[in-house]
Amino acid sequence: MELTHAKPVPAERLKEYAAIAGQEEMEELYRLGEDLRGIKVQHINSARHGGGVAEMLHSLVPLERSLGLDATWEVIQARQEFFIYTKTLHNFLQGKPNIPDLLGTKIYWDANRENASLLRNEADIVFVHDPQPAGLIEFIPPEVREKQKWLWRCHIHLSHEHEFVFGFMRSLIEKYDAAVYSSGKFMPPWSMTTAVILPYIDPLSEKNRELPEEKVKEVCCRYGLEDPGQRPLLLLVSRFDPFKGHNCALEAFKMVRKEIPCQLLMVGGTASDDPENEAIFAQLQEKAQGLEEVYLLNLPPDSHTEINAFQRAATIILQPSIKEGFGLTVCEGMWKEKPVIGGDTGGIPGQITDGYNGFLVTPGEKGIEEMARRIKYLLLNPSLAREMGRRGKKTVKERFLITRGVKDELLLFRALLGRF
Ligand code: UDP
Repeated sequence: MELTHAKPVPAERLKEYAAIAGQEEMEELYRLGEDLRGIKVQHINSARHGGGVAEMLHSLVPLERSLGLDATWEVIQARQEFFIYTKTLHNFLQGKPNIPDLLGTKIYWDANRENASLLRNEADIVFVHDPQPAGLIEFIPPEVREKQKWLWRCHIHLSHEHEFVFGFMRSLIEKYDAAVYSSGKFMPPWSMTTAVILPYIDPLSEKNRELPEEKVKEVCCRYGLEDPGQRPLLLLVSRFDPFKGHNCALEAFKMVRKEIPCQLLMVGGTASDDPENEAIFAQLQEKAQGLEEVYLLNLPPDSHTEINAFQRAATIILQPSIKEGFGLTVCEGMWKEKPVIGGDTGGIPGQITDGYNGFLVTPGEKGIEEMARRIKYLLLNPSLAREMGRRGKKTVKERFLITRGVKDELLLFRALLGRF
């Protein structure tokens, strides 16, 4: 079991944030940090690496610490059968009709009970991310619980299709002091305090910081890609997961390549709380067999520089998700001034304005032709594609940087703790 007291962000780096987000934004953060100086915030999730939650926490916790909060981040540990159950639950909450095995609930509670020792009794705020560790709230002694504020952050696309699971989730989540969603669309009508906080990217992380051109070239070369200047590169970065739309990207690519030479790269990787990766990767490998211009990479979860380089090398970013809690990869692509074509679902339309900084297409199989048409349009109109990319970066700068995300969270902490 791990306990992370991450190092605060160094002063030099805070200046870099100010240079990107504006001095005023940073001043506001410092003021909020003063109001909350010394409060103990414990973040808990189910994976240290892989996926959007880990991506955000890696940047969030050091920044909160540098603003004066005593923030820590713990990760629950459990056997594979727990993660198989919670992934089924996750898929079900996102609308897949595979009812989770009720026996799994025992595995769920056992694992949450076993992880209760991670809880910091002295925490002022316990910030629990996603359904996997949500059950921890049942194992905090009442005399400790009454002194704390518990927040549940839902990062997934709640699709409201399955009342049964919602019943199970509802009785659990209503024990929290507040729930936070990535979109108002996901908010269930439960009797509790709720807030929407849009996710964010860290412009200074290894995933998003500027990279020298030679590094981008070196990474592309290392993985055998053709020079995207010669053969345009379509890129999908996502866990190999049934909702991410890999098949749609592949089919759309097959249509486009009949008319315009291009290459498709799909990069995914393992997250310790996601057991589906290998099977979906293997299915895709089979489907892509014999297609020379398709590259499938299953990379280790810390391949941030590689992904940064691919995103910078890409001509167009694809995110044809069928369900999507937010889709950090959309913002990541936009930050690198790329036009993004995404499924019109979940958190994606909050980032892409159709025809302005990218295109939205019908999610799933029905969107394949639309996606192929949009890809062709952008490949045939490179100056428009570049303009969309520039607008995408502006969108991220205005709305999706970590500085805004931390500000929203600190405002919520302040309200919950009644510190005005
Ligand atoms: N990611 C990664 N390696 C991969 C696949 C994804 O580092 O092989 C990162 C990706 O760059 C992004 C995050 O994982 O930062 C995925 O977040 P998103 O919100 O797009 O999706 P999630 O996985 O949380 O559903």
